[in-house]
Formats: sequence, structure tokens, C-alpha cells
Amino acid sequence: MSGALLEVESISAAYGHIQALHEVSLSVPEGEIVALLGANGAGKSTTLNVISRLIKPTGGSVHFDGHPIHTRRTDEIVRRGIVQVPEGREIFRDMTVRENLEMGAYQRRDRPGVRTDLDQMCDIFPRLRERIGQKAATLSGGEQQMLATARAMMSRPRMILLDEPSMGLAPLIVEQIFEIIRRLNREQGMTILLVEQNVKLALSVSSYAYILENGEISLKGKAADLMADDGVRRAYLGA
Ligand code: ATP
Repeated sequence: MSGALLEVESISAAYGHIQALHEVSLSVPEGEIVALLGANGAGKSTTLNVISRLIKPTGGSVHFDGHPIHTRRTDEIVRRGIVQVPEGREIFRDMTVRENLEMGAYQRRDRPGVRTDLDQMCDIFPRLRERIGQKAATLSGGEQQMLATARAMMSRPRMILLDEPSMGLAPLIVEQIFEIIRRLNREQGMTILLVEQNVKLALSVSSYAYILENGEISLKGKAADLMADDGVRRAYLGA
């Protein structure tokens, strides 16, 4: 074991007869951004859902900070500090932006700390400050992604799992979201496992990456090396 914050070892998962993951292993060191890449249906979301224990693996183990978590319930995993920002965002649409952010901190008892963090999230996401009293349903797609990410940060996690933050967003907004991901990592030291189909952008923010194909890791390496790899360039970067 490498001593990384998150260690996924040989996990397998199935939906009925469909084998979605075959012995997937990956690790995420503290303070780094690691990307999990691959085409539609490769098994990226399933991997995140196994880590969060929204799906029970059929084999393998997941360790967080040295402790096994694959036998824990999702709420226990969240309490240990892993928070997932799901694909499609799943914000509370009928609540205001402020209420959504407060919901992210519902397990915390340190009210002054929550107020400070809310303010800090509004510094990082100025759009959210401008729309703080607005119903979440009225936000644009990019703003909803910002809200979902900021809400996850409000629980003061040790690590966030980001599922396709670029999905359905215009290129300019995607750039903004990725800039924020960089800042969360650099300024807050946040450890991030980033699932993405936008390979180029994901490699530009991460230190290490894994490529999933049909439920198996087909390639892994330093982000800079993968960016320069001919096979990756042909298959994923349109080179
Ligand atoms: P996408 O980017 O399209 O979300 P992904 O890489 O995240 O793709 P998964 O959603 O993890 O892929 O899906 C992996 C495989 O498992 C696919 O073949 C998918 O069709 C199948 N699958 C996912 N969810 C279910 C489900 N609830 N029931 C049955 N099969 C599923």
C-alpha cells in the first residue's frame, strides 16, 4: 500500500449480469488532483459510486486514510470526509443558494465556522454571492455546478469526488469551473478525484490520471506523460 489518502484495490462491480468494473485499482495522494478518464459507459461513475458506497462492490477493497471503508455506510463515509458531487448535480432546487450551502454543513456544530466558510465559498464563487437569496432552480447549468461543488466544500471534507463537472456546459463556463477546481486544490489543499470526459482539460489540472476502458484500467501515468502519449493523443485529444 502506497500510503495515499485514498486506496482503491481491485474493486469489481456489476449491475445484474452486466459486469461494470473488473478489478479496478487506483490511489489518490493527499493534496493532489487525480483524474479518472474514459468514454461513455467505461465505468467512471460506477467507480465513484463504489467509493461512496452507493453501490456495493462484488470484490476488492477501498481504504481511506488507512481505514477500510468498503464495508461502511455512505453516511459514515461522508462523516470520514469523502463527499461526492454527482453527475447532474442534484442540488435542492426549491431551496435558495444560501439554504443549499447551509445544507452542505448540516453535520457541523461550529456555527461561526460555517458562517466563515459560507463567506469563503462566496469569495471563490462570486456568482453564488450575487444569487445567494435566489432559488437554486433558477440558476444556469454552470452556476448549479458551482453550487454543488461549493455545497460539498461546506462539510469541510478531506476529499471530494467530482463527477463530470464539465457536463452540458459551454466551453467558457467549463474553463471557469476548472479554474475553480485548481484554486480549491491550491488554496484549500483539497484532494480531488476528478471524473471527466474532457481529457485535455482534466489532464491540465491533474498530477496523475487513470484511463478506464470497458470497466478496466487500460492506462495510467503522470498527467504530463499521458498528454504527450501518442495513443492518448490519437484516442482522446483528437491529434
Ligand atoms: P458516463 O460518462 O456515460 O456516465 P461512465 O464511465 O460513468 O459513463 P458508468 O455510468 O459507470 O460509466 O457505467 C458503466 C457500465 O455500467 C455501462 O455499461 C452502463 O451501461 C452500466 N450501468 C451503469 N448504471 C447502471 C444501472 N443502474 N443498471 C444497469 N447498468 C448500468
